[in-house]
Amino acid sequence: MKKIVLCCLFLMAFHSFFAQTTYILAGKLIDTKSGKIKTKQTIVVTKNKIANVIDGYVIPRDAKAKVIDLKNKVVMPGLIDMHVHIENEFGPRTRLERYILDEADIAFNSVGFAKTTLLKGFTTVRDLGGTGVNISIKKAIDANKIPGPRVFTAGKALATTGGHADPTNGSRRVIVGDPGPKEGVVNSVEDAKKAVRQRYKNGADCIKITATGGVLSVAKSGDNPQFTIEEVKAICDTAKDYGMHVAAHAHGDEGMQRAIIGGVKTIEHGTYMSEATMDLMKKNDVYLVPTITAGKEVEEKAKVKGYYPAIVVPKALAVGPQIQGTFAKAYKRGVGIAFGTDAGVFKHGNNAKEFGYMVEAGMPAMETIQSATVTNAKILKMDDEIGQVKKGFYADIIAVNDDPTKNIDTMENVVFVMKNGTVFKQE
Ligand SMILES: [Zn+2]
Repeated sequence: MKKIVLCCLFLMAFHSFFAQTTYILAGKLIDTKSGKIKTKQTIVVTKNKIANVIDGYVIPRDAKAKVIDLKNKVVMPGLIDMHVHIENEFGPRTRLERYILDEADIAFNSVGFAKTTLLKGFTTVRDLGGTGVNISIKKAIDANKIPGPRVFTAGKALATTGGHADPTNGSRRVIVGDPGPKEGVVNSVEDAKKAVRQRYKNGADCIKITATGGVLSVAKSGDNPQFTIEEVKAICDTAKDYGMHVAAHAHGDEGMQRAIIGGVKTIEHGTYMSEATMDLMKKNDVYLVPTITAGKEVEEKAKVKGYYPAIVVPKALAVGPQIQGTFAKAYKRGVGIAFGTDAGVFKHGNNAKEFGYMVEAGMPAMETIQSATVTNAKILKMDDEIGQVKKGFYADIIAVNDDPTKNIDTMENVVFVMKNGTVFKQE
């Protein structure tokens, strides 16, 4: 009797093993490594990995295997956005919400943002700053408690006193206090080291610094340098000790140069970047994360009365219109481009608008997709795990209706999403 039960259990396990195999028939498949489009491919998915990619359509012999017909679709690896804020979505109430939302409220909001992002084809994101709830969101997604992209998070961004990510900017003196490195505000080399180690302790995957002023903070300058080179260097060196890279928010050129010399991996926005800084980025293998969509958003919303605090409006009107032009120049000069949008400054789920803006600025459609896959995977040190539909990689697979090299807007309408071998969307 015992033997029969064991045998049955074995058979069940055997069957469930095969039941987890899925054959995706892809009419067109984008090879993000070569930038070529292959036709009539079969992607075999077992559990959470791609077991094989085969020329031609293969019909499985095992009757239990699942077949997904994407013969009239264009299939590609899941997209990676290097700059989102998964915790929030900016609006006229944002300033007030800082004082009335509890962490639990923020968490519930984030659950929706994470799901929306995934269903739009972004299977991995780098989250560049929030309150720390972003670390819990990442854990909940990893544990399959909620649907969402794979998250690399910076936790709370680092700033100097009064800097772009000082959480107490513009508040009443009685509640302002004086946040220190524990809350991500640093004012010396020693503070810088402590702030990074605190992020590591909190569970962050990378470090974000606000190297210059920014648009949406309640502060006057949108582009002044806000860290010394020594502080940036201390942050980058310490981050390296813990296996983390550093992303630098930067609009002004001087702050950007200090960040690059100090050792950051990516420059976010890059608005007033000079040609000398572009060359410095190439020399130091630093990537530009364009965030054109955010630039367009702040320019548009600054024209809506009362949408932003008064101190933000002139900054938004100055910075917003510059970003796409700077991207065009940097791309042409050969700066590495890491696809990233700043979603949260605009509505989560609109991330793919960035593709159209990049193409409009002169980057070929295929290169924009490579930027959002192989390039970003490399920066995240996951280039042998994500960013390609390839044997042994995670089964992060999406599909659109049209060939994006002919119609880039098709990227905004993702019709199929698989992450880690699980189908989250199939139209
Ligand atoms: Zn941002």
